[in-house]
Amino acid sequence: MSKTANILKKISEAGLVGRGGASYPTAAKWAAVKAALKNKKPGYIIVNGAEGEPGVKKDAYIFHHHAAAVINGVYLAEQFFGADKIKKIYIFLNREYYQLYSFSLKTVLADRPYEALGEKTEFFIKPDRLTYISGEETALLNLIEGKKVEPRRKPPYPTEQGLYGRPTLINNPETFYNVSLAAQNRYEGKRFYTISGLARRPGVYDLPANLTVEEILRQTGNYPAKAFFVQVGGGASGEIFNDEQLSVPAEGAGSIMIYDKKRTDWRKLFKHWLSFYQEQSCGQCAICREGSYRLRELMNQKQFNHKLFDEVVQSLEDTSFCGLGSSMAAPLKSYFANVKN
Ligand code: SF4
Repeated sequence: MSKTANILKKISEAGLVGRGGASYPTAAKWAAVKAALKNKKPGYIIVNGAEGEPGVKKDAYIFHHHAAAVINGVYLAEQFFGADKIKKIYIFLNREYYQLYSFSLKTVLADRPYEALGEKTEFFIKPDRLTYISGEETALLNLIEGKKVEPRRKPPYPTEQGLYGRPTLINNPETFYNVSLAAQNRYEGKRFYTISGLARRPGVYDLPANLTVEEILRQTGNYPAKAFFVQVGGGASGEIFNDEQLSVPAEGAGSIMIYDKKRTDWRKLFKHWLSFYQEQSCGQCAICREGSYRLRELMNQKQFNHKLFDEVVQSLEDTSFCGLGSSMAAPLKSYFANVKN
């Protein structure tokens, strides 16, 4: 078996999935880019390391502790596609991460065997205002191309027509890190979890990917002594679970935010989520642009109009053009279903 087929087999056998939130199988994505590159001009690789959702800090941890493994994963991708088939590599970071981690990433890139990779790698800094939407794959492509930062219609998918219409592999740093481990037969089925909020030991933990939220909280010494609820998968888009519903895995971006049940003012919390979405909405569709505004407005009314609130949330979920708009519904609906009855 050739070296490149071998890496795909290892990724597939390891069962690697994307860790940006969508959990798409990595082997399928890599195979799709490889197939698309066959009859096309060279394409691109993008490391999407600009995490912008509140409560998610795993990319920072990975860059800090495993910069060499991330670069090795990118190198393996370039080798898999063929060096002559990859025109450029972009490492997409927010300003803070660029300041903190670009030096160590560049140091790795200057070393053997990555010099050639380093020469075609460019760091791309995320504009400060666009903390979340520019992380959406196709919005990110528009950003790099200098266009309006809004999601594109899919298909075509970036694997076939990505940056400048060329096949493009976009993966999270955690995926490149895991590819590096899988290539050395060292991948142990783990993932990174960010624990925050009412946590005694907040931080990022590297634990088995199949643990339940309760197991994660207990194994990290973060199971609260008082009444609580959690938001799982992201501090804006994550679903809310009460303390009797913790036998679920921590999906999405793998974050667990813990809230003090008694002391959390639900209106303030909703306003916090909705302000985030309002700021991040690209404005392309009315339901997301206006809906986040209307919902936030409803929070200020003395008599809460639950019926209207539910209707707007449902429309958001059903008709938003991209995941940012539809994901707004998850915390709002699950809070009412699981915490505030
Ligand atoms: S749902 Fe929101 S973020 Fe997504 S395309 Fe529509 S306006 Fe933009």
